[in-house]
Amino acid sequence: MQDLKTDVLVIGAGPAGSMTAKWAAKQGAHVLVIEKRQEIGSPVRCGEGMSKDWLPEVGIKPGKWINLEVEGARIFAPNETVFEINEKSAGNEVGYVVERDGFDKALAIDAANAGAEFLLKTAAVGVLKDGGRVVGARVKQFGEPFEIRAKVTIAADGFESQVGRWAGLSTNISTRDMDSCLQYRMTNVDCDTRYCDFYLGKIAPGGYVWIFPKDQGLANVGIGVQLSKITGMAEARKYLDDWIAKHPAYAKGKKIDMVGGGVSISPPVKQSAADGIMIVGDAARMIDPLTGGGIANGCIAGKICGTVAANSVHAGDFSKAFLDRYDRGWRARLEEKLYRNWLAKEKLCTLSDEIFNKLVDALSTVHLQKLSVHNILKAVRDKHPEITQEFAEFL
Ligand SMILES: Cc1cc2nc3c(=O)[nH]c(=O)nc-3n(C[C@H](O)[C@H](O)[C@H](O)COP(=O)(O)OP(=O)(O)OC[C@H]3O[C@@H](n4cnc5c(N)ncnc54)[C@H](O)[C@@H]3O)c2cc1C
Repeated sequence: MQDLKTDVLVIGAGPAGSMTAKWAAKQGAHVLVIEKRQEIGSPVRCGEGMSKDWLPEVGIKPGKWINLEVEGARIFAPNETVFEINEKSAGNEVGYVVERDGFDKALAIDAANAGAEFLLKTAAVGVLKDGGRVVGARVKQFGEPFEIRAKVTIAADGFESQVGRWAGLSTNISTRDMDSCLQYRMTNVDCDTRYCDFYLGKIAPGGYVWIFPKDQGLANVGIGVQLSKITGMAEARKYLDDWIAKHPAYAKGKKIDMVGGGVSISPPVKQSAADGIMIVGDAARMIDPLTGGGIANGCIAGKICGTVAANSVHAGDFSKAFLDRYDRGWRARLEEKLYRNWLAKEKLCTLSDEIFNKLVDALSTVHLQKLSVHNILKAVRDKHPEITQEFAEFL
């Protein structure tokens, strides 16, 4: 391979990378996306659940990648009292179960149609620097090394991101801010295709068990457990297997696929831009710390990132001062909710099964018109005043 040159180099063709590429290309920048895997979106490492309210904002049209549209979510307390969240109480926060590989490919097609070019089986192995500024990446394709020079480089390389760190940006997180996830695709189960289900409590310390239905009798059954509360993936698997064994609707099922991986449940990075580089999506710790969902935030930030990248190319200014427009842009859109949900996650991680039972009981019996912190606290105060103190800091 000969060395290459581009305006914008995007490292990683996940949702955040393809969305960044699309918006940079749409606005006239020459964009090159490199992806270390040979196929975009595969293998899938995802529960495949997503809300739908944000799709128009980033220009995604619903497509063949939608498996199911669910009516809502059900939250199960340890004693299996249920609290239902539906479109009326949560608006468009409820949504779809998707074919994640199809979704990622659709975003890449959108980016390619906007003018971005893709190089598959091409991994970044280091960043190029000129003085303190990042000016591209050292890459390998089929083991062959070459360089890609870029005016702006985007680290969209996911949870295990290295590119940001190579560039000198801090992306470190502690084990208490990470969840280990494991999921089976299971057939022959009795799932309810109207709902995504979440089971809370010590069955999944610091996380939850999820059931995302794919079809009648077919579901993604997974678990996320706070990494600081377990010794490794084998323990996460034991928690999931124990939960399945205790639920006859799933114990009779057959596992046909298994995926594992990590999600951050931390606040986002403190700095997402430096001279010549921006980081986006999981690489910038943009996963919602309460739900573990990162597709929406990665895409929303990706649109802002791509727009700022193209603007910086047009302005001929690749400095941190210019690229900080991206930092300010995504924070204005996402940061408040990320911090609020991080605080809520911190609280939920400390609750006993008994408190969870009372919390879900309060929510399930009081008819909530709209899901808000205020309404949730009011429901708790009305039904179980004795546990209000637990949530005092949220007031
Ligand atoms: C088990 C599990 C279940 C999940 N379930 C959900 C869910 O139901 N809903 C939800 O919203 N989120 C879910 N998530 C989180 C979600 O998958 C991520 O938030 C989302 O994929 C983030 O998109 P991204 O583009 O930032 O990163 P990724 O999708 O991880 O994409 C990063 C890309 O960069 C590539 N790459 C990495 N390093 C390099 C390199 N050096 N050179 C070139 N390419 C590179 C990777 O191959 C990858 O394609 C789940 C995560 C896990 C682990």
